[in-house]
Amino acid sequence: MRGSTSAGTSRDDSGSQAILNKLKEFHSAGRGFWSDVPDRDWNSWHWQLRNRITTLAQLQRLMPTLTPEEYAGTRLANTKLALAITPYFFNLIDPTDENCPIRRQVVPRIEETTTASWEMSDPCGEDRHSPVPGLVHRYPDRVLLLVTDRCASYCRYCTRSRLVSNATGYDFHPDFGRQIDYVRNHPEVRDVLLSGGDPLLFSDEKLEFLLRELRAIRHVEFLRLGTRIPIFLPQRVTPELVAMLKQHHPLFVSVHSNHPRELTTEVREALSRLADVGIPLGNQSVLLRDVNDDVTVMRALVQKLLICRVKPYYLYQCDLISGSAHLRTSVRKGLEIMEGLRGHTTGYAVPQYVIDAPGGGGKVPVNPDYVVTRNADRVLIRNFEGKIFEYPEAADGTPLVEAPREFEEPELV
Ligand code: SF4
Repeated sequence: MRGSTSAGTSRDDSGSQAILNKLKEFHSAGRGFWSDVPDRDWNSWHWQLRNRITTLAQLQRLMPTLTPEEYAGTRLANTKLALAITPYFFNLIDPTDENCPIRRQVVPRIEETTTASWEMSDPCGEDRHSPVPGLVHRYPDRVLLLVTDRCASYCRYCTRSRLVSNATGYDFHPDFGRQIDYVRNHPEVRDVLLSGGDPLLFSDEKLEFLLRELRAIRHVEFLRLGTRIPIFLPQRVTPELVAMLKQHHPLFVSVHSNHPRELTTEVREALSRLADVGIPLGNQSVLLRDVNDDVTVMRALVQKLLICRVKPYYLYQCDLISGSAHLRTSVRKGLEIMEGLRGHTTGYAVPQYVIDAPGGGGKVPVNPDYVVTRNADRVLIRNFEGKIFEYPEAADGTPLVEAPREFEEPELV
């Protein structure tokens, strides 16, 4: 029967389904260690930022189960990429599980200090495509504005760890005036992405200034914000912020979430506030070892994102950023996950798997081989069940079947 669990469902399938259902449940992050904090403070994004976990002493106190690798990594974090975790996000960590997928993303490890020979400090070659400070012009019709080097929490695999948090002394100083002038003087730029660091860390007024200036440029057709704030700090998505953002349509927001447990009730409400004012939402995930390199986890993530009205947009192969080898998976694993999504769940839920070509080649889509063979006459294709089908090829400009020269006129009624 269509839509039901077939009688032949294996125990493995029903086990995966149970895990999937569990991962798709929405829970609050709760208060954890901060149960005494008044609601007004807990729900204030300023309070959350002021009370971030940023030192080894704080981390040890809150998580006595710190492993030797984490202890050593945290001691050295301030020379590579600072430690910062919002209290809200910290509550998602399971302190009893050293392989907790949330923990692996934000708690430093000693492996970060080892750089493999193929790793780089600027794996996407952004600095080479930066005509003015904080502006990357890599693709023909769009630019990336890096507007800050600060984030609410720091991801241990961050592609821009050379500059975010300023732990390496990069001393990032975007020049808003020159960035805006550059966009103004390049009529081919129709799409501007504000990222960083996280642009939603700006005050509403500062962010509005940038959006207004960019919106006033006639050839800029739409604006985008790249942010992980709705995941790290949903308290920042205030009614005042969304009221301001909706003045600058068309404005798209790309969030960044990697694991279904990040999608809490607080996050779902924050994303709702953005969606309710007509902001199209997309999600970018990074494929990470022991975080989301699993079909069931990824299926739960993409399905849960759709429930939050977020379209899974990109799944990135982890960039070759220095010190990230312990978090990187194989491309083979990425392709296996894509195979497990396409056809097995709603097409809307399937992100595009990409590799950002090392050194600055831009995003390259990577897909499982669904075209088996192809010649001038036919294409052999494979579906998600592995069945092979043949599709006749049309020569350019030639219809597959010639229309008859004579035909009977239909009788007009
Ligand atoms: S939020 Fe984005 S920019 Fe900030 S550390 Fe994470 S990946 Fe890097």
